[in-house]
Amino acid sequence: MSCAVLLAQTGRAPHVIDQVPAPVDVSEVLRYLGYPVSVEPGAHLQDILEDWVLEAGRRACPRAIYLVLPVSQLRPRSLRLQAATGEVEFHGAVGEFLGASECIAAFVATAGPGVERLASELMEQGDNLAAMIVNAVGAERAEAAEAMVIEQLREQAMKCDFAPTLPYSPGYCGMALTEQRTLFGLFDGCDVGVTLTDSCLMRPLKSVSGLIGLGPVERVQAFGSPCERCELYSCAMRR
Ligand code: SF4
Repeated sequence: MSCAVLLAQTGRAPHVIDQVPAPVDVSEVLRYLGYPVSVEPGAHLQDILEDWVLEAGRRACPRAIYLVLPVSQLRPRSLRLQAATGEVEFHGAVGEFLGASECIAAFVATAGPGVERLASELMEQGDNLAAMIVNAVGAERAEAAEAMVIEQLREQAMKCDFAPTLPYSPGYCGMALTEQRTLFGLFDGCDVGVTLTDSCLMRPLKSVSGLIGLGPVERVQAFGSPCERCELYSCAMRR
């Protein structure tokens, strides 16, 4: 099987996900709040948590957009994709993260603006704990939208014996944050629901973007996670 078969299924046009049916995962919210897995929050915090998880979940509007493009050249530190408007090039440790890929999915996923607005209102009112919980729900909702992108890609990829790699995002592990401009450029003219500031931060802040490689299952499995080869043992993002 080849990338062409996968592209025949996905097409090269952007796909939009505007429904994330999975409910808020409270254990993820606790993780974002810095709670160790083994520690249960006390009864008082549990009540506050329940209220604000519910409210933030209502205000969230998670969505995602992604597109799949063929790789025209993949080197240890550079990646060229065949986009609709011509070739685009990414720089960073792409060989380490996406080395097994024949196609690449670029994506942007967000919790939507409502959660951030609620967190700002709470901060202005001096309710820092509620604002932290709401922000943690925002991070969880953006991740839930990203998880749906991965799931859809996995389903499409499976049909031609391909599998997705781990996501690789600008601003992490050797890819400069400024690579966001190239990534967002791929969606030029599309309503992504997220904008980039001059300093390449995403608005809403509770958003994630990145590249996901797609390659033959056995190559992706043999390639494994770049974290297995990384010597930054203290890294909290290890996967
Ligand atoms: S361990 Fe951390 S720094 Fe190393 S590759 Fe994984 S996420 Fe990146």
